[in-house]
Amino acid sequence: MTGGIRLTMADNQAKPKRLHDLIKAPENTEWAQKKKHSWSGERPATVYYTPEILSDGTLTSAVTVILRTKGCHWWWSSGCTFCGYFNDTRDDVTSEDLHAQWAFAREKFDDFADHGMVKVYTSGSLLEDREIPLDFQETVLRDCHQLGKELVIESRTEQCSEEKLAWATSINPRFTVAIGLEALDEEVLRFHINKGFTVKSWYRAVENLQNAGLRIKTYLMFKPPFMSEGDSLVHTVRWIEGVAELSDEISINPMNIQRGTVIDRLFRAGDYRPPWLWSLVELIERAHPYIHPKGGKNGDGDQISRLLIHPTAAGRVRGSHNCGECDREVAAAIERYSVSGDLLEFAGLDCSCRKIWENEIALDLVVPSPLGVGQRRRGPMLEHLRSP
Ligand code: SF4
Ligand SMILES: [Zn+2]
Repeated sequence: MTGGIRLTMADNQAKPKRLHDLIKAPENTEWAQKKKHSWSGERPATVYYTPEILSDGTLTSAVTVILRTKGCHWWWSSGCTFCGYFNDTRDDVTSEDLHAQWAFAREKFDDFADHGMVKVYTSGSLLEDREIPLDFQETVLRDCHQLGKELVIESRTEQCSEEKLAWATSINPRFTVAIGLEALDEEVLRFHINKGFTVKSWYRAVENLQNAGLRIKTYLMFKPPFMSEGDSLVHTVRWIEGVAELSDEISINPMNIQRGTVIDRLFRAGDYRPPWLWSLVELIERAHPYIHPKGGKNGDGDQISRLLIHPTAAGRVRGSHNCGECDREVAAAIERYSVSGDLLEFAGLDCSCRKIWENEIALDLVVPSPLGVGQRRRGPMLEHLRSP
């Protein structure tokens, strides 16, 4: 490069030192850094409650505490292609800050008195010592056990070692670990998601969690980058089948576009459309037999796992959406299925946009266009067909 033109998109004038700074330019911009450090380290990012089901099937509500943390160590060196959690972090959060955030959440919800479950999310892994000070990990585990609340935490696979789980279960003998597996496919993990761990490491983590007597929740990503909607439908059903026996719960995360991520760039370039809500309905209908082999619903004797989909930003252009007319009704049916596990939730749902979606899915599987034939893509169709 000559004439002082740099490859970086960051606002500051410093020469980028690492490839990482070039690729992840948006989060290095001045506005992003300013925003990041405008958050208070003593308040959680957000605290709210939603209806939930306890592990024994009882209806309850769960308080979700999203803590303001240093974020995910995988993000520090690379990061998943869709993950915008870094937007909510700050680099200097201390153990005292985290304890203050936790105290705030406990106080706000009266020590979770009216709720049977607490979900503690850290924009990374709670049991990762580089991200979360050990004494704070202990506080969360101990408090939830002493308060008699079912605890759900999130983790990557590396943290689920025998030693770490032995330590954690000595403080809290039964909690749920949610792992963002995203895809039961090594190639997708590597080239579409940039997950930084393998399917093999997930199997290892599951074995350790089972041996420790802990519950397992598995997140799968619907429609990762560089995959058409039709392909995604076929693959995700297969992945659900593959993880069902090993997971107490399977939570499908339909892609939503978070700022400053790789998928955000694809989206803004017109090369990616978030999933149709119809695809999620179809996904549930095709995967249901792997969850309920005898066609039952949640709570019935044939239940192997629990299948959940809570589409973030449903009906919005950056979240799963249909035509705009039917979005609310279809999203509500998907939410209802997540509680009941009953396919009848979808009975009678229809809209004129369903035909458009059907054609798109069918074409995705026969036209050699790896990014899909979705109508929202800009530019000439011939170019799409040539696109790598
Ligand atoms: S491992 Fe999780 S938190 Fe870390 S970058 Fe990936 S999705 Fe984000
Ligand atoms: Zn519609």
